[in-house]
Amino acid sequence: MSILQQLVAELDAGRVRVVDLTQPLGPETPVIGLPPQFAPSPGVTIEAISQYDDKGPGWYWNTLHLGEHTGTHFDAPVHWITGKDLPDNACDTIPVRRFVGPACVIDVTAEVEANPDVLLTREGLLAWETEHGPIPRGAWVLLRTGWSRRAGAQEFLNVGPDGPHSPGFHKDATVFLIEERDILGVGVETVGTDAGQAGTFDPPFPNHTLMHGAGKFGLASLRNLDQLPSTGAVVIAAPLKIVHGSGSPLRVLALVE
Ligand code: MN
Repeated sequence: MSILQQLVAELDAGRVRVVDLTQPLGPETPVIGLPPQFAPSPGVTIEAISQYDDKGPGWYWNTLHLGEHTGTHFDAPVHWITGKDLPDNACDTIPVRRFVGPACVIDVTAEVEANPDVLLTREGLLAWETEHGPIPRGAWVLLRTGWSRRAGAQEFLNVGPDGPHSPGFHKDATVFLIEERDILGVGVETVGTDAGQAGTFDPPFPNHTLMHGAGKFGLASLRNLDQLPSTGAVVIAAPLKIVHGSGSPLRVLALVE
C-alpha cells in the first residue's frame, strides 16, 4: 500500500482520528474588542438569500457578513505592519505546504487556573522540550490553556476595567520559537495570539509583532486541544484563498494516531 492508501485504511479503522479544533461560527461567536479609538471588527451576521421559498423554491443559502479575524481563524503575516512587505504573506499567496505541520501542544491549563494572565516563557518551552523532545522546524505550537471551556462572550473575552485578561506568550518565548525553532506559527484557545494585556507590553502585542514580522502564522480560538497528544498529531489549517486576505475563518483539523 502507498502511504496515502495506508492513511485512508487507518482512518477507516479508527486508528487515525480526525479531531476538530474549531469553534462553531455564528451570531454568538465572541469577537475581540479594541480600544474605542480603533475600528472594531463586526460580529457575525448570517442572512438567508433563500430557504426553499419564493426567493428560491428548491434551495437554501446564506449571505455571510463578518471580519476576517472571527471565531476560529488564521492570521497571515500581512495582518501586522511588521509583515506587510514580506513575500507570500497573504491568504492567497502563502504556499499551501505551509498549512500542514506537526503539532506540539504545551499545556499550561493549571497555571492559567491560578492566573489568567499567565505567559508561556522560554524557560517553560525548554522544560517542555526536556520531557517531549525538541520542537521540530515547521511545527504548529499550540498553547493549551483550557480557555475554550469558557462559555459566553463575557467569560471568554474576560474584560476588566483595565482591559482583557487572558494568557499568551512572553516575548522571549516568541523569539525562541522564531529564531531557534523556525516554527510555522502558534495556535491558542483565546480570541487572539497575544495575551489579553499585551497592548501594554514592550513592544505592544509582541507575538503578532514578531511572529508576523518573521513570516509566521497565528491560529486563534481553537478548541479540543485536550484531545491532542503533546506530540505526534498533524494539524491542517488552510485559510480561505481571500485575495490579499489578512486572515480568514477556517476549519482546523488534527490527525491523531
Ligand atoms: Mn487574528
